[in-house]
Amino acid sequence: MPAVRHVAMLSVHSSPLARLGSKEAGGMNVYVRELSRELGHQGVSVDIFTRRSDPSTPTIVPLAPGVRVVHGQMGPAAPYDKNLLVHYGPAFVEDILRFAESQGVQYDIIHSHYWVSGEVAVVLRQSWRCPVVQMFHTLGAMKNRVARSAEETETSRRIAVERMLLREADAVVAATPLDREHMVHSYGADAGRIHTIPGGVEVRRFRPVPRSVARERLGLPLGQQLVLGVGRMEPLKGLDMLIRALAMLHARHPSWRGSLRGILIGGHAETTSRDQWNTEQQRLDALRQEHGLASAVSFLGTQPHELMPDYYAAADVVAVPSLYESFGLVALEAMACGAPVVASQVGGLSLLIEHERSGLLVPPNDPAMLAEQIAVLLTQDAVREAISAGAHQRAQSYRWSRVAHEIQSLYCALG
Ligand code: UDP
Repeated sequence: MPAVRHVAMLSVHSSPLARLGSKEAGGMNVYVRELSRELGHQGVSVDIFTRRSDPSTPTIVPLAPGVRVVHGQMGPAAPYDKNLLVHYGPAFVEDILRFAESQGVQYDIIHSHYWVSGEVAVVLRQSWRCPVVQMFHTLGAMKNRVARSAEETETSRRIAVERMLLREADAVVAATPLDREHMVHSYGADAGRIHTIPGGVEVRRFRPVPRSVARERLGLPLGQQLVLGVGRMEPLKGLDMLIRALAMLHARHPSWRGSLRGILIGGHAETTSRDQWNTEQQRLDALRQEHGLASAVSFLGTQPHELMPDYYAAADVVAVPSLYESFGLVALEAMACGAPVVASQVGGLSLLIEHERSGLLVPPNDPAMLAEQIAVLLTQDAVREAISAGAHQRAQSYRWSRVAHEIQSLYCALG
């Protein structure tokens, strides 16, 4: 198998350097950054191409040994609707081709993330004549299955591009067998070209820390029971289920009213002006007011990724009540920190967590069951401890060094 030395990683619409937990930045950004870092560590040089969304960003930003982020022009140098970026695709491709030529780099593989990058990848392939590995992270058809309004529905163009990429890419990586199945059933993809390789977690950073130490570092109170929810403020994350579940627990256990709190990471912090909050955050705000939980559920806003291990370790329970999750990085990170997780039995979460061994699974859209399982973890020490140990152990098999080796083997097989 030929060795792969240079990888062009495409993360066109959203940068691996973006602030996480905001509208367009989450698991995919972490994936691109961490995979690239690990590949760099394993001796592969990686250029991550992304669009410039701020005029002051330099063209090249070093990320890690052997890894750099390269900014190209694609539309205005400002945040921009990803559905409209297609108009600027040809100029972006020109920019990348010029860059590669000026640097004298010949890429062995194009690894493309999300459908927006895929469109660029298949054009670049014509010039570079190297294989394209495509990952979707989420699929439009799956999002549409759980969409509750026209606003949440993905465009037919996205679905068409995804279908084209499933046909055209040299290989497709699915994060789970379930994801692979969706590609086959919803898009008619050829199963033989889809490789299942999970996401990873940096186990050296995401590891257990005593709860009191984590809380002290974060300035969180010691005497309260904290249920943590993490995610972009999007209906798909189901954070409304967590608020409803907490309302049920307060109603059922009046003595918990002063001590049981929900903390939500993502979106905007409590102290910011409400005009900045998106529709979902405003909806969650209205819901907590309606249930008299204004002071029991707090918005902490987006938090630096470096602080996430402490947040997971500080929580009594981490809730992941998503309606759909293709992989579920938040759950995996929390597990690596030994935090007890209650998650919806959907998508990647249902494969990541073994119910009652490495976490608890509940049906999606069911706040009563979510409340019940949160209560189990809050009141039954033996169950919590066993799950915490099981979760930590399970997360080890997803460590980045291992996942990146699998990705490299795929590169080599295609090269
Ligand atoms: N994240 C973060 N800070 C935040 C919110 C999220 O660092 O304020 C990170 C989180 O640790 C995880 C990722 O963003 O690595 C979210 O990944 P997930 O797959 O759970 O959700 P996605 O956003 O991809 O739907």
